[in-house]
Formats: sequence, C-alpha cells, structure tokens
Amino acid sequence: MRFRDIIGQRPLIERLIASAQAGRIAHAQLFSGPEGNQKLPLALAYAQFLNCRHKVTAADADLGGLSADSCGQCPSCVKFERLAHPDLHFFFPNNIGELVKKDAQSTDYLPLWREFGLKNRLEFSLNDWIEAMNIGQRQAIINIRDCHTLIEQLALKSCEADYRVVVLWMAEKISDTISSTLLKTLEEPEPQTLFLLVSENPDQISATILSRTQIVQVPALSTEDLCGGLVTHYGLSAAEAQPIAEAAHGNLCRALADWRGHEGEEQHEAYFTRWMRACYKADVPDLLDLSEQLARLGREPLRLFLRFSLEKIRLCLLCHEGCGIMAQLPADQQAFIRNFSPFITAENAPAYYRLINDAIYFVARNANISNLMTDASLQICRLMAAEKKKKNA
Ligand SMILES: [Zn+2]
Repeated sequence: MRFRDIIGQRPLIERLIASAQAGRIAHAQLFSGPEGNQKLPLALAYAQFLNCRHKVTAADADLGGLSADSCGQCPSCVKFERLAHPDLHFFFPNNIGELVKKDAQSTDYLPLWREFGLKNRLEFSLNDWIEAMNIGQRQAIINIRDCHTLIEQLALKSCEADYRVVVLWMAEKISDTISSTLLKTLEEPEPQTLFLLVSENPDQISATILSRTQIVQVPALSTEDLCGGLVTHYGLSAAEAQPIAEAAHGNLCRALADWRGHEGEEQHEAYFTRWMRACYKADVPDLLDLSEQLARLGREPLRLFLRFSLEKIRLCLLCHEGCGIMAQLPADQQAFIRNFSPFITAENAPAYYRLINDAIYFVARNANISNLMTDASLQICRLMAAEKKKKNA
C-alpha cells in the first residue's frame, strides 16, 4: 500500500512523511481511531515507505498532492504490497474454528489474512475478520502463543529490511495474561524494529503498554473523502456513493457493508430466479453451469445465497394471489413469485427446507460446493416434476 492509495487522511500522511524524513521514528506507535478510517492501510503504507529503496517525491511523479511516497516497485515495496515481506510480521485476534482446530495463533491464519486483507484493501472490521475466520461465537484474542511466536521471530536477525515491522492489529484484543511479557519486548526493542499497534479502543489496552507507545491519532474520514474513495477504489458511481457516504459517518466499513448488502440482494435475486427456472425446465446443462458459478462465489457468499433462497421459499408459501405481502414486492419479483409459488405447497415445502438447510450445513464443512449444488438442484427438479405431474393429472 502506497500513501497515495490511502483514502483521505492527507494532513496526517504529510506529518508521517515529515517525521520519517526528519528521522523521528518512534519504535512503538499506536494508530488509533474509529472503525473504517484507514488505520491499518496507513500503518502499512508508513512501513512500506520507511523500507522503500526508491522513495519518490512530488518532483518525480504525480503523487496526488502528496510530497513524497514509496515507489511501489522496488523489491521491498513489491513484498510489502503483497503483505509477504519476510520482515513484516502480523498479529491479530484469532481463535480455533473451521480452519484451525487446535492451539490457534495468528501465523495459522496468515494465508487467509493476506488474501482477505488484499481483497479488502486492508479495510475491514473486527467482525468481518471474525466471520472470515469462521470461528463461530468464540472470542478472538491475541494470545500467549502469538506472544511466544513474536518473541521467537524477533530473536532472529532481521533478513533484509531497514526496519523490521511488527503489526499488532486490534491491540485492545491483546490478552491481559501476555501484556507483561509483551511489555518487556516493547521496552527493550531490538534495533531497527518497529511496532505498529492498531486500535479502535485504546482505553482497553493496558496502561503500561499504552505508555510505551507514541499515539498517532487517525480521525474518521470526511464524507467527501469517503465518497471519493468509494468512486475511485470500489467502482461506485458518484450518485451511488453520495447517499452511502453520508449515511456512513466517515466509516468505510459501514459504507461497504451497505453497498454489498444492496448489491448482494440483486445478485441473489438473479441467481435464485435462474436456479428455479432451470429446475422447472430440468435444464441440466444450465444447472451444471450455475453450480460451477455458485461454487466460484466462495463458501460464505454461497451460504448467504442459500439463506436468501430459504427466505424466498417461505415467501412463496406465504404468498398466494391477492395476499397482502405480495403487494409490497417490486413488480418483477411479484411476477416470479406468482409463477413459482403454485409449485411450493404445504406438502413439499418441508422437503425444500430440508435440502437447502442440508446444503447450508455442508457448505460450511468443506464439501465440494459444485457437487453439492448439482445434487440439491437435481432434488429440486424431482420435487417440481412431481408437482407438475399432480397439476396435470
Ligand atoms: Zn519502493
């Protein structure tokens, strides 16, 4: 992440650049501020800048109004951009779950963290991350194993970077039991080692740790910056972005959740309509193609789609011509439900529920998604054929 890829926060970025150029680099810094304000991307851009071998200035290139930035192209920058620099260490809240069954720690989740971080431009909420780890209702914390790993990693000589960087994301989730061990590391740091703590609730961090860090206050994004960021980096039109930015109060995570909810709904509607039409016609080639497409969505989006499908089945059961709920739906959905609801009856609805609920269960448990969806589709084909036969009898 380069400074110019950050949404907003220009005055703060200039302060970070100036202090770096003046050689005032505190070895432990706490990037603190509300959710969705680019704290983590900022911390990473700062680390990348410090380690860049070919820093650029406004005289060399268009930096979008900034005075200096990392090049984004030297070997160090390339590794930072991929979150895969050998001297970049991440620690974040974690716990056992679907992926890690025993003695979880941050390093177990590193591949997911990198993939998730890059996909989301390093901006996501703690809840988003907990959902990505699939750890159910368990609490996520930075635990004793993380602490031991951190100490082991710091005991190794720095490999290649000017500054070895340890990022502690959501530092308020550092377990109390390890605060004192961690404190020693913060008090007697290895040379050229930089601790970048990121937190939304610094008041929940132990006072002794807090007193060893220099605080970098990161304010909420302005509506204007948030709106601009949604257009430039997330592909929304200005007309789409404006109301979302206004409602999000400077929180990019909230704005994105709003937007994805809206986008997801439309996509689910389209998939569900196609799925049921293909089942009705017993169009096997289309069902196979659709199963492949749904498999590519990934487990969590597919689970949401299946939940959406359950809700639609329920709606069909409730909605019959002239019923009140029907009138509240948009016209195109009314037409679909009108055509489809005769095939959902009190007799066959339990079978629909069972097979979709089973699919939800197995999606979360590493079943082959494409086979699973094909199997569910063929069962629905049979249910529809039976209902057609009854109606024609
Ligand atoms: Zn560089």
